[in-house]
Amino acid sequence: MSDSKNEKHKKSMQKQKSNVDQRIEEADSERGVLIVLTGNGKGKSSSAFGMVMRALGYGYKVGVVQFIKGAQLSGEEIYLKEQCPQVDFYQMGTGFTWDTQDREADIAAAERTWAVVEPMLKDDSYHLVVLDELTYMIAYKYLDEDMILKALADRPVEQSVVVTGRGGGKALQDLADTVAEVKDIKHAFKAGIKARKGVDF
Ligand code: ATP
Ligand code: MG
Repeated sequence: MSDSKNEKHKKSMQKQKSNVDQRIEEADSERGVLIVLTGNGKGKSSSAFGMVMRALGYGYKVGVVQFIKGAQLSGEEIYLKEQCPQVDFYQMGTGFTWDTQDREADIAAAERTWAVVEPMLKDDSYHLVVLDELTYMIAYKYLDEDMILKALADRPVEQSVVVTGRGGGKALQDLADTVAEVKDIKHAFKAGIKARKGVDF
């Protein structure tokens, strides 16, 4: 890089650093957060499991509840169940709703699953709770939206919750502290490449 380019780069980095430092200084509240990971692209659940790994790194207790999923075994299920006693892992276990095609049975399974989530959201020993694919329970009206929102809002102050899944509605996003949308630019599946063990499940 030429000297002038170097100088320009340095100035721009200094400016960025002082902006970031200022924001860090201003962020003075310490509490758990509600994170919603949505959108059509790949990376919602895997991001949530990345946060599980982070929490485990500090020895925190984690709860993971997977709605919908269960028919297909996944790497995260095998690992968390077999090797992570600090993680309480539960799956709704009905498979995808377009597979079951039985609304009544899905609702019963959703309610059984919520009965596992509810005590987690009242228990401050859970540092992190992942509610994977919960958004579909709201979208399909399998569970009452107000009940879900209230339980999320009333959770322990230090507890963080990650909700993943497409859709989920505005009220959930309004309640959340962080909402990120994974945009689908390209997916191997569309080029006929099968879902990969250890990558997609
Ligand atoms: P991942 O678990 O890989 O982070 P995700 O949670 O963002 O994915 P889901 O909607 O839960 O996405 O879909 C789960 C499965 O569908 C994964 O195997 C994922 O690779 C695949 N998938 C995700 N996005 C797409 C897409 N845009 N087209 C096709 N398949 C997708
Ligand atoms: Mg997912």
